[in-house]
Amino acid sequence: MKSAPNSLESRIQELHSDYTNQLPGKISRIQIAWNNICEQGWSEEHTSTISTICHGLAGSAKTFGFSALSKSARVLEELLEETQRSQGTQQEALATQISQMMHTIAHHASRPDRRQGLFSRITMTQQTEPQPINRTVAIVDSDREFATNLATQMGYFDLQAHTYTSTTAFLADLNETLPGILVISAQLSKGNGIAVASEAASRLAERPRILISSDLDDMKLRLACVRAGGEAFLVKPFEATQVIALINKTDTCPSKEPYRVMVVDDSLTMSQLFTLTLEQAGMDVRTVNDPMDMLNVMLDFHPELILLDMYMPQCDGDDLAKVIRQHEAFFSTPIVFLSAETDFERQLSALSTGGDDFLTKPIEPAHLVQAVSSRVQRSRQLHSLMVRDGLTGLLNHTESKRQLDILLERAKRANTPLCFAMLDIDHFKRVNDAHGHPVGDRVIKSLSHFLQQRLRKTDVVGRYGGEEFVIIFPDTTESDGQRVMEELREKFAMVTHHAGDQSFQCTFSCGIATFPHFSNATEIVDRADQALYSAKNQGRNKVIAAAHR
Ligand code: GH3
Ligand code: MG
Ligand code: MG
Repeated sequence: MKSAPNSLESRIQELHSDYTNQLPGKISRIQIAWNNICEQGWSEEHTSTISTICHGLAGSAKTFGFSALSKSARVLEELLEETQRSQGTQQEALATQISQMMHTIAHHASRPDRRQGLFSRITMTQQTEPQPINRTVAIVDSDREFATNLATQMGYFDLQAHTYTSTTAFLADLNETLPGILVISAQLSKGNGIAVASEAASRLAERPRILISSDLDDMKLRLACVRAGGEAFLVKPFEATQVIALINKTDTCPSKEPYRVMVVDDSLTMSQLFTLTLEQAGMDVRTVNDPMDMLNVMLDFHPELILLDMYMPQCDGDDLAKVIRQHEAFFSTPIVFLSAETDFERQLSALSTGGDDFLTKPIEPAHLVQAVSSRVQRSRQLHSLMVRDGLTGLLNHTESKRQLDILLERAKRANTPLCFAMLDIDHFKRVNDAHGHPVGDRVIKSLSHFLQQRLRKTDVVGRYGGEEFVIIFPDTTESDGQRVMEELREKFAMVTHHAGDQSFQCTFSCGIATFPHFSNATEIVDRADQALYSAKNQGRNKVIAAAHR
């Protein structure tokens, strides 16, 4: 988190009073410029003073709790343009209106809204640290054998399952085991499993995830399941790996790193406001007030989204957007224009230069946070499509190699070991031949869930090829890596896979190579591959470390 909420609040208060204190000066500058025009005729200097100040007020005043001022500044800006374009009596009439507006705007500047500015409405939506998920499962099913088998299989995936054949026993044990996941049969011998799930959920302080299993597929039951907050309805027979895949799905959601946002705005006040708003929502924000600094900051910070002011003294936002787009590394970084601009044509043309969207000032903090979050999220999803494998969601071949490069560099710099493992399912062709390709696919998915479930969040897992996987263990020695892989090998061999009414097991072989025994990425991959080949030659279902001096 960037700063404590208290200091954020006081910074917001400071910004607020700075803004309010500056208002009288701005209003008198407008009035002086207008008096000069009235006395000496139109001049570029005076009109531009008025329109620049009005433009700024129109975009910012509402945000600071002066919504009437925002409106009157916009009216004044438009009136001024119209007056310059007109002639004769029409011009005189318009000039009279401007003189009246000078009073109105001064009045509005001294009268903040009864409710404070939009600041006070910034909600505390700071991202909290991701909670470790509760891996305790309660399985409630009248079919004891089913429950026990499921529990055993879950054990291989590092889920701790308790089984119950009666509702009473389950509810009695609830406060003891505090399960995070319930797998409850809709057809319990005494009573309705879905109601039991609701009952249990209401008794637990942390709401558990509810998965309903059922002997039959029935629309009424499905509806009841959804209404009870169930996230899945599993019709028997189903596989343990299916349940594990479901549990995994939300567990391995894309990175929870704070969103990185860059704000480019020449106005110090406005950029601080945007920054505070976004920081308060848990984002990591860099501010640029001088557009000339923009590229350097981008190269250093790698923003995931850029909020770009449309009008700045040195250059306009649309030109900056073109500059950004010419930089290969930032070709797809979302750009959102922020401006008081309300002219539709102008917005369209700004978008055509490489911007992705347009937000019109004044913008509600909640709306700003929402607009930024949804775009960064979407962009992360698109990025993930490029680097992830479609079947398993693991990193693909190219990205796995890239990660090895990155992590190896890091290991060298920090002088820490790194272990690289390459694994390949044994006799996989036989699985396809005996049970068909779709069953083979399921085995591949199940190994991928298995690996994701049992490894640390910092370990990188990739699908290197068909039935070949790689794992990068940062800060791990050869002996530790070998020990982890041995354990995974043993546990995976016990996972049961199903094909119709047949069931079978699979094993894998694994080769590992470590830094600092080997020091460049190509060598590490080659040596792990050779070790894997030895493991296959020595009878498969083995883990072998590459020989070194
Ligand atoms: P070994 O123990 O020596 O590794 O034997 P193997 O049969 O696993 O190895 P081989 O390389 O001879 O065969 C791999 C098979 O994996 C052949 C290929 O059709 C299958 N395969 C590769 N990718 C996929 C996939 O995505 N889905 C399925 N179902 N099969 C795949
Ligand atoms: Mg194989
Ligand atoms: Mg292979």
